[in-house]
Amino acid sequence: MNFDYSDKSIALQEKLKDFLETYVHPIEKEVELFHQNPENSWKRWPGMEALKQKAKNAGLWNVFLPSAYGELSPGLSNLEYAPLAEIMGRIIWSSEIFNCSPPDTGNMEVLAKYGNPDQQDKWLKPLLNGEIRSAFLMTEPDVASSDATNIETSIISDGNDYVINGRKWWSSGAMDPNCKIAIVMGKTNFDAPRHVQQSMVLVPMDTPGLKIERALSVFGYTDSPEGHAEIILDNVRVPKSNLLLGEGRGFEIAQGRLGPGRIHHCMRLIGMAQRSLEIMSKRTVQRKPFGRTLDTFSSIRQDIALSACEIEQTRLLVLSAADKMDKVGNKEAKDLIAMIKIVTPQMALRVIDRAIQILGGKGVGSDTPLAHFYAAARTLRLADGPDEVHMSQLGKSTINKYVKK
Ligand SMILES: Cc1cc2nc3c(=O)[nH]c(=O)nc-3n(C[C@H](O)[C@H](O)[C@H](O)COP(=O)(O)OP(=O)(O)OC[C@H]3O[C@@H](n4cnc5c(N)ncnc54)[C@H](O)[C@@H]3O)c2cc1C
Repeated sequence: MNFDYSDKSIALQEKLKDFLETYVHPIEKEVELFHQNPENSWKRWPGMEALKQKAKNAGLWNVFLPSAYGELSPGLSNLEYAPLAEIMGRIIWSSEIFNCSPPDTGNMEVLAKYGNPDQQDKWLKPLLNGEIRSAFLMTEPDVASSDATNIETSIISDGNDYVINGRKWWSSGAMDPNCKIAIVMGKTNFDAPRHVQQSMVLVPMDTPGLKIERALSVFGYTDSPEGHAEIILDNVRVPKSNLLLGEGRGFEIAQGRLGPGRIHHCMRLIGMAQRSLEIMSKRTVQRKPFGRTLDTFSSIRQDIALSACEIEQTRLLVLSAADKMDKVGNKEAKDLIAMIKIVTPQMALRVIDRAIQILGGKGVGSDTPLAHFYAAARTLRLADGPDEVHMSQLGKSTINKYVKK
């Protein structure tokens, strides 16, 4: 195992840190407050496009994408991208500046990997350019969606079209006025074997019959402008040319999509945890209960020491997963991907919780990013598969390694 960062990655890390320091840190609070103001719900912060252009000019664009796309992506490996995602994770809304935010990243990878040239021309190009945004519609309110084979949305063939009916929720990104395209997972054949009933189709957000029912919030955070929507698909008609890869291949695409997405979430979570550690460490020398500063209390030092240990342990595990994905592919790296998806959100929650505790009342308010970090990290014990599902798969795979059947 060699986790040394390449020169290319190191140079981009320095550039990214400088970019954030110069352009983003000074306005971090302003943007957070803009999005938390209900009057601005689903409005984009007016300075975002200018920042995106600056990032593009700086070569900090689409750095998540493993394939090179001319000027539009430097084509970094997962190992090279990992520290960059960690740096972006320090500011909850910053990934979009670099066109590296979910669900667009996963959707772009799907289109790059499984889209045909027409689909790529129509949807991948504007996504890579940051001109539009996208959503991924898999989860449904009426079925236990942690088991994707339960999905009930129907995608029925009708002449040259598919007609889609169903209800989706937790469709992240769908509230953004720039969200123009959704990848919808449903069933084209309810009678086929369990894992080949599903297909994925591209559905433009303005297709008649696609209706946003409501926006969902996470512990009160709307996550504007992207948001999380509940969506009704009522006789939504799209041409058959909008099908991705082929009928019955939806489950296969979902598996391919979620590997990189999971590792990106984990990298950003490490950035949140690392920043929380820095915030709590700085606070310890500023507060003086019972006659001495917090840094001199042994329980506080233990909290900080444990946090430092856990962040570094998890960081190394995530880098190991990234390295394995690069060397042997996402499928072979699936156990490591499951491990990081299980441990990273829980680690981040423990560290953020300690930081909140050390900051006292200030920790739960909106003067620091900690409360929002906590809400975001908590969702990642559910999103992209609940902990239990990953543990069940990892447990099964581990047993199989040691038991001859
Ligand atoms: C903030 C946020 C953003 C999201 N974004 C998207 C998105 O963009 N697109 C999208 O399609 N979905 C999205 N999701 C949905 C997310 O992926 C699902 O919530 C998740 O897969 C779980 O599905 P479910 O909610 O139907 O839970 P259920 O399937 O009802 O499961 C409920 C609970 O049952 C338990 N459980 C399930 N399986 C097992 C098992 N094998 N063993 C033991 N216990 C088990 C777990 O505790 C689980 O949390 C998002 C969710 C959140 C919170």
